[in-house]
Amino acid sequence: MRSSAMTLALAAALAATAPPAPAADLPVFDAHIHYSHDAWESVPPADAVAILRKAGVTRALVSSSGDDGTQRLVALAPDLILPSLRPYRTRGELGTWVRDETLVPYLEDRLRRFRYVAIGEFHVYGADADLPNVRRAVALAKEHGLVLHAHADADAIERLFRHDAQARILWAHSGFERPEAVREMLRRHRTLWCDLAFRSEHGTGGAVDPAWRAAFDEFPDRFMVGTDTFTPERWHYIGEHASWSRAWLASLPRPLAERIAWRNGDALFGAEIAKRGS
Ligand SMILES: [Zn+2]
Repeated sequence: MRSSAMTLALAAALAATAPPAPAADLPVFDAHIHYSHDAWESVPPADAVAILRKAGVTRALVSSSGDDGTQRLVALAPDLILPSLRPYRTRGELGTWVRDETLVPYLEDRLRRFRYVAIGEFHVYGADADLPNVRRAVALAKEHGLVLHAHADADAIERLFRHDAQARILWAHSGFERPEAVREMLRRHRTLWCDLAFRSEHGTGGAVDPAWRAAFDEFPDRFMVGTDTFTPERWHYIGEHASWSRAWLASLPRPLAERIAWRNGDALFGAEIAKRGS
């Protein structure tokens, strides 16, 4: 029948133009991207930028082992890439950088030659945070007005704040701590922010876990999402991670969802973003 055919056509047209699901259009500030040397060939810089843009990532905090990876991306997309200086020149320095005598000269050299918004992501645990290299990294961050992106336990975070009470610290993976412990840390430190990279229990199945919801409600300005591309293959997960994040963010009130999706990241790095004029 002509009329039912028309109904079907109309239904198809409506489906094609249906408004996006809530939060489907959220821009994403991805606070945890690495572009390390073993990714440069399989995901060339132009492809890396294309992956981020296709995922609807409007800004990405990027660090690389070594730093040339980050510089290549910044050169291609200065509006998108917020460069962070990682204290690793190659994969494998994650556990040795705190005692490596060649490390501080490397950081100082890079800081002289390039502009950054952060130092990190670096790994440090417990009393190692009192070692001279770590103290120097904190001092350099202070001197250059940079955020510290720290993959650390709560003890090390406390020590970093003892080196500089005014430090701005982005706690990678929220320390892989339970939400109650994360809230305690956020109460103690006003200049502590948390990324949710490489964890999923806060938003499984498009719903937000109640304990995490309490954390987001208490500290709506301190959380951000991140993929963590710690291996080259993870680059192909960036789009999926953005969609997955939008799914659980959709269950939150829109203003809170926007904060976690991108506003908190833009706010933390606002001064540097303004300088870049984007
Ligand atoms: Zn990482």
